[in-house]
Amino acid sequence: MQKKKGYFGDFGGAFLPEILISTFDELEHEYLKARHDPAFFEEYKNLMSTYSCRPTPLTYAENMTKKLGGAKIYIKREDLNHTGAHKANNVMGQGLLVKRMGKKRVIAETGAGQHGVATATMAAKFGFDCTIYMGEVDVKRQRPNVFWMERLGATVIPVKEGTRILKDAINEAFRDWVSNMDSTHYVLGTACGPYPFPEMVSYFQSVIGMEAREQILEREGKLPKSVYACVGGGSNAMGIFSGFMDDPVELIGVEAGGKGIDTEYHASRLCADDASVGVAQGYKTYFIQDDEGQMKETHSISAGLDYVGVSPILSDLHEKKRVRFEAAIDDEVIEAMDLTMRNEGVIPALESAHAFVTAYKEAPSMKKSDSIIINQSGRGDKDIFTVADAFEDPEWRSFIKEKAGEYGA
Ligand SMILES: *Cc1c(COP(=O)(O)O)cnc(C)c1O
Repeated sequence: MQKKKGYFGDFGGAFLPEILISTFDELEHEYLKARHDPAFFEEYKNLMSTYSCRPTPLTYAENMTKKLGGAKIYIKREDLNHTGAHKANNVMGQGLLVKRMGKKRVIAETGAGQHGVATATMAAKFGFDCTIYMGEVDVKRQRPNVFWMERLGATVIPVKEGTRILKDAINEAFRDWVSNMDSTHYVLGTACGPYPFPEMVSYFQSVIGMEAREQILEREGKLPKSVYACVGGGSNAMGIFSGFMDDPVELIGVEAGGKGIDTEYHASRLCADDASVGVAQGYKTYFIQDDEGQMKETHSISAGLDYVGVSPILSDLHEKKRVRFEAAIDDEVIEAMDLTMRNEGVIPALESAHAFVTAYKEAPSMKKSDSIIINQSGRGDKDIFTVADAFEDPEWRSFIKEKAGEYGA
């Protein structure tokens, strides 16, 4: 019934129903073949430089550096990718693999809708049929993304099971895959799930770290002191960290501290006490769960970090103390986003702003000759509803009311 392989230390594996084992074997085979084919990565890089915005720039945050008075702060601009985040790296990479496997249909899960939109663009470009599973609650919360997925030609299926959020959408996507594995590939959205997904998604995202390392060496003539990334499932963090894994560079992953990691409202798996090791959704990692192994509800101001599990690779790097984990709370996140917008004119996503919180706390005590890199995983204009609420903008409120009025609400 179960198959265990693809472990990272004590974490990971592939706990699969018998029926999916041959599909995973095929996926692993294609992925490893592609990975050992230099032409594949060239094709991938070429695609990303003509369809997305690779290489993304490394921006020197000169004003924030002066303001904080410590290390030089650089921002890796994953927000400049197509659809506004690093997610494009993963979906386009998997799209190329799907082409190689000769499959014609893709499915994906989505919570906030960002991964669904990215997958829908990929499917449209490659001419695949596309079905996106999304919890019914999320469909209601994320109408703009549902609208775009449908315009891009995807079918969005609202999942009515369970608590009707991301984890229920994942279960439903697996159910679809079991019935349609010959024609269908499941485009998993982050560095989680059964092997080979954690490793494969990290591989596609490693382009971030590869570029960042080259760029900082060119600009500073030496390695950075630390690299910061936010951690939801862990894919953007794995992407940038992988460029510096073998270097004497400190790697810091920042989780969603929500209203505080000692409250019930957070999504911190590696910093908080109420997460523990378990097996769910086909892999072993730290989950936010109760004593009976029931997944608990998570909270974050940013929908993209609001996840019960975490990459098994990061759980391993946490135990090995190669990556340090911190948590940023919602209020700090809004403040860091505000500072970054006003001083640098860049708009980080709420997810990315978590990494900025910890970087801004630590930069002042570093030497002026040091540099640090913050991974700006995505752009913040998608967060207008949340941010406008946080700043209690009255003009925005009356705009929303007026719009609603036009529809007779
Ligand atoms: C989805 C998302 C994340 C979280 O995903 P990871 O797999 O942890 O990278 C972070 N930032 C942005 C902008 C996202 O859209």
